[in-house]
Amino acid sequence: MVQKNYQEVIPRIKLPEQLSRLGEIAYNLWWTWNSGADELFSSIDAALWEETRHNAVEFLHRLERPHFNIAMADESYMANYEKQVTAFDAYMSTDETWFTQQYPAVKDKKIAYFSFEFGLHESLPVYAGGLGVLAGDHLKESSDLGLPIAGVGFVYRQGYFSQHITEDGWQETGHFVLDFNELPIIPILDEKNEPLMICVQLPGRDVYARLWKVQVGRVPLILLDTDVDKNSHTDRQLNARLYSSDPEVRISQEILLGIGGTRALRKLGYDATVWHMNEGHSGFLAIERVREYVKEGKTFEEAKELVSKHTIFTTHTPVPAGIDMFPVWLVERFFYNLWPELGIDRNTFIGLASHTVEWGEFFSMANLAFSFANYANGVSELHGSVSREMFNFLWPDKEVDDVPIIHVTNGVHTGTWLSDEMKALYEKYLAPDWMDRIDDPALWDGINRIPAEEFWQMRLNQKRILVTFLRNRIRKQWLTGNLHPVQVVAGGVMLDPHMLTIGFARRFSTYKRGNLILRDFDRWLKIINNENMPVQIVFSGKAHPADEPGKLIIQQIYRAAKNAKTGGRMVFVEDYDMNVARHLLHSVDVWLNNPRRPNEASGTSGMKAAMNGALNFSVLDGWWHEAYNGKNGWTVGDLKDFDDANQQDNYDASSLYDTLEKEIIPLYYARLHGKGDGWMDMVRNNLRTLSYQFSMRRMIREYVEKLYIKAM
Ligand SMILES: *Cc1c(COP(=O)(O)O)cnc(C)c1O
Repeated sequence: MVQKNYQEVIPRIKLPEQLSRLGEIAYNLWWTWNSGADELFSSIDAALWEETRHNAVEFLHRLERPHFNIAMADESYMANYEKQVTAFDAYMSTDETWFTQQYPAVKDKKIAYFSFEFGLHESLPVYAGGLGVLAGDHLKESSDLGLPIAGVGFVYRQGYFSQHITEDGWQETGHFVLDFNELPIIPILDEKNEPLMICVQLPGRDVYARLWKVQVGRVPLILLDTDVDKNSHTDRQLNARLYSSDPEVRISQEILLGIGGTRALRKLGYDATVWHMNEGHSGFLAIERVREYVKEGKTFEEAKELVSKHTIFTTHTPVPAGIDMFPVWLVERFFYNLWPELGIDRNTFIGLASHTVEWGEFFSMANLAFSFANYANGVSELHGSVSREMFNFLWPDKEVDDVPIIHVTNGVHTGTWLSDEMKALYEKYLAPDWMDRIDDPALWDGINRIPAEEFWQMRLNQKRILVTFLRNRIRKQWLTGNLHPVQVVAGGVMLDPHMLTIGFARRFSTYKRGNLILRDFDRWLKIINNENMPVQIVFSGKAHPADEPGKLIIQQIYRAAKNAKTGGRMVFVEDYDMNVARHLLHSVDVWLNNPRRPNEASGTSGMKAAMNGALNFSVLDGWWHEAYNGKNGWTVGDLKDFDDANQQDNYDASSLYDTLEKEIIPLYYARLHGKGDGWMDMVRNNLRTLSYQFSMRRMIREYVEKLYIKAM
């Protein structure tokens, strides 16, 4: 054992002796996915809990002694406290995990998992969307299964951005500054109690980053942060925000993540065997590891082979335009110093990632990652085959089917995304230990034991919770005096929990076609305003601040939501985040997804909706291509692909309306009016076939079996 030359000190929160463990629990995101643990906070003061965005650290800081006294005098509170502390201690201290039992021979090997963003919880808003939430879920399930893994990423002081919609439907970006003293992040300090630092070389200067740690159950996540005194003003801003459009900032961030992240692990004595790059942003980690080997005396070729043997690259980008690429001149400026240290010349270096398109040669982070990863995968079956075709050029002597890119279909973390109400039903009707068996198909045969009526009432209640949530949210904005009354309507006050409710929430990239449902506005109006079988739809999501077409789509939806003709049945919820996502995914009846094929590598929100009992209504893209079985949801369009986007949109929109009118709406209202149970049959089929298959547990086990163990 090496002597630790650093310390992680959980900041102390002043608490009464009897509740002293609350502080430790607040600093471990374990509480975010274990039933009843959030009540340790929310049940003390529900209003403050909302006000602090479910941030346990800030919440405890702001509680006053009388609050604690009431809690301590409350028997049921103290009983839950004991129960949660016991569960937490048992979870944290056990050595008997799936991984250690399954793979005792490699239990001392370690995995490093690099990602540009991690979406763990709304109180840590340093994620933009699906990629980050997937990475967050990856760490949580790795913790549950006992994988020896550590995450590496950034803590962005200004997060992504907060979204405000003007009266005219235009997305405005708001910026907040996170106070790190109020976040569940733990400073890592050196022997002198100073922040532990790493350093990377950018053109003409050294840039420093301090390290923070987020405890995700048993798994540490190391976050880099350049906001330190030693850096120039500009460098302090380097990781202020996610996804800068400035290539110089982007390459600096990626150098920091890949090279700086590797140095951080070295500094912490975390000796990783397997290096996993979640998307190409962290590709430079391979360069740093080659540099280390060359310094020890290996040739570049030897070093490259050693690095590749232990490196995994997960690609998420099914279209060439989405790949992270830098102009070659920029790469030269950032790396020319390094070539001698790697033992190679300029051309060899650029050749590792060279990508020539019509307008010139670029340095592609995906190509770089493939160059150094003996293991690579896409994130759904369809995306695997799209990737083999798209990257065939990197293996010119191979047939497309032999391109060494496999697929591991994404999944979602059950503990995080399943409502407490569903958890309770499963506990009652599946098995008390159902959580330990979520990826066992046999468990899910028990779905038939859940009485249809009990399930239906629970779902109605979830929609009531959604309606209340949206009302409170819009009321708060109304109270500021800055809202036009029609925005209150667009914010959801006219929603009715009994009505068939469709959800559509995700990033507003144009390929996701958020406005497809408006293509034939008159037909849409007839559908939602049908007297006997009305429909309502709730939208939410952000467009990247530089994505003008994306913002125009939001505007089109928002204007329709304000239009009196839509009767308050179209709603747009501002400022999508994991909290809004959770409310929608727990409650809506139908989850709509209509991207242009095959742009959606996987998609994960539909999996979250499915496990909560919503039915998916989706284009046969990404995960749905392999999930749909004819009886567990519906498709928008079919496998027919048009060259002309306009034709495709018309075709898909018309299919969308047809299926709504002829199948979805009648089936729902038959159930509501007690005239048939086709709806529940589909829901059961959905839960039985999708809950285990698209769980993060199945996904992590597949990563272990197909990739991690081999790379170990
Ligand atoms: C799950 C999730 C996503 C990803 O949704 P997709 O359907 O994959 O686009 C994005 N944002 C949040 C907050 C999520 O929870």
